[in-house]
Formats: sequence, structure tokens, C-alpha cells
Amino acid sequence: MLTDYHVHLRPDDPGATPDRYFTDDNVARYLDAAKQARIEELGVSEHVYRFRQALEVSRHPFWEEQALDDIDAYCEFVRATPLRLGIEADFIAGAEDRIESLLAGREFDYVVGSVHQMDRGRMVDHAGWDVWDGEGDADRVWGRYFALLADAARSGLFDVLAHPDLVKMWGPQRPWPDRDPRFHYEPAVEAIVDSGIAVELSTAGLRKPVGEMYPSRGFCELCVEGGAAFALSSDAHAPEQVGFEYARAGELLRELGVGEVCVFERRRRRLEQLG
Ligand SMILES: [Zn+2]
Ligand SMILES: [Zn+2]
Repeated sequence: MLTDYHVHLRPDDPGATPDRYFTDDNVARYLDAAKQARIEELGVSEHVYRFRQALEVSRHPFWEEQALDDIDAYCEFVRATPLRLGIEADFIAGAEDRIESLLAGREFDYVVGSVHQMDRGRMVDHAGWDVWDGEGDADRVWGRYFALLADAARSGLFDVLAHPDLVKMWGPQRPWPDRDPRFHYEPAVEAIVDSGIAVELSTAGLRKPVGEMYPSRGFCELCVEGGAAFALSSDAHAPEQVGFEYARAGELLRELGVGEVCVFERRRRRLEQLG
């Protein structure tokens, strides 16, 4: 089986409103694209910060600007389609209880947990809130990022850990650590193995300056050694990105000896043979 769970029904700009993108026609375009790519399980996971209710979790100025939509209307819309219902929820250190309340009582099939935001509201993937502004010590940034990723894994809030080494997104456009990246990966992988959270293999990094999948092969190897389970995603923001470069993801998983992928329903996970 092939799955694509980390999918957005719309681009990231605030002008991409629900009335334009949460429509049956748009869903049909995504389902068509999935069929072409032989993806049997397609789920969507909108950014939590685009919903008003997320302001109970964080009042980050970026969230204040983005939080326009209603999360329950989103859930209701997706439930009436053949799509699996997910959400991409940010891990915000110190806000675990508030994240839990936001997710509780809403019947997601799975929750994708992401570390985009680091200390003082700085982000690893947003130039406007750049974690690298005035920061040249890549080992410090990577160390902190993977510590937050470990906390996200251990929080128990999420089913899938999204784009696990997103800190590398800018590739050569930002500083790169001197240490062997495995030094930074290890605490995060330990948390992944202890918690049992699924690791997302995301092809989205191939569309970014770094030009490689998330996570790196080295990170995947440590996960495989620890017996972690994998979930497969494109992080599509448009129908034509559904299943993006899946041949490469499948090849990597086969090389690593991973023969199964995670399938989710109402936050219960099972493994299916990789298609
Ligand atoms: Zn993300
Ligand atoms: Zn995403």
C-alpha cells in the first residue's frame, strides 16, 4: 500500500481561504492525483495555526495573522469526503496541555506533529522569523532543534513526527554544523524509539533548497536500527504534488529494509506492506 497523509488542501498564503479550497471539486483533484500515483490512502493535515482555536495554544504574531478559519468546519468538511482526517499540529514547548485540549474531542484519524518554532518564536522554515538571524552557531541550533523534536516525540500528542530534520531546510543558504549530524540525531531517535511515534519520510525536502528528503538517510538508518515505524508523505500543497517523487522514497525504504508503512484510522495505527 501507498499512503500520503501529510497533505494540505491549499497553498500557505492567507488568501487561500476555505471557500476556495475546502470544496468538493478541489478534493476531487487531489483524489484524482492520488489515483494516478497509486496512492490508496490519502489524508489531509491542515496547519493548526490557520484555525482561530489555535490562538488558545499560541499568540505568536504569525499565528495571529494566519488564524482565520474554524477547525470544526474543517473537520466536518473532510469527514464528508473519502479523505482521512488529519491535522499538522505544531509542538510548542510549554504549551503541551493547551495542544492536548485543542486536539481532544475532535475525531482525527491521525495528528502530524511538527517542530517549526524554536525559542523566542523563531522558526526553522520561515525567513520572516528566521532562527538563523544573528546566529552563526549551527551546532547550537541543531542541538536545540533535535532536543525539541525529542520533546515532541515524547509528548504523546502526535501519531507521526513530521519532516524530522527540517532544521536543514535551507541547505547551503544557512550555516551547517561541524559535528557529525548523527551526534544531533541520537537524542531525537532515542525519543522516537522510546515513544513509538511514527517517523515521517517526507519527499518535501526535495522541493526545498536542501534538495533531499526529510529525514536524511543517516537519521533513517538510526530509526531502522531502533525498530521505528515509518509513514510516507509528500507534504503536498497542491494536487500535482501528491505522491511527489515517491519512487525515490520507496527506493530508500527498500534499501533500508523497511517493508511496511503506517496506516491510521481514528488514531489507531496498523502496518501495511509497502506498495
Ligand atoms: Zn510542516
Ligand atoms: Zn505541512
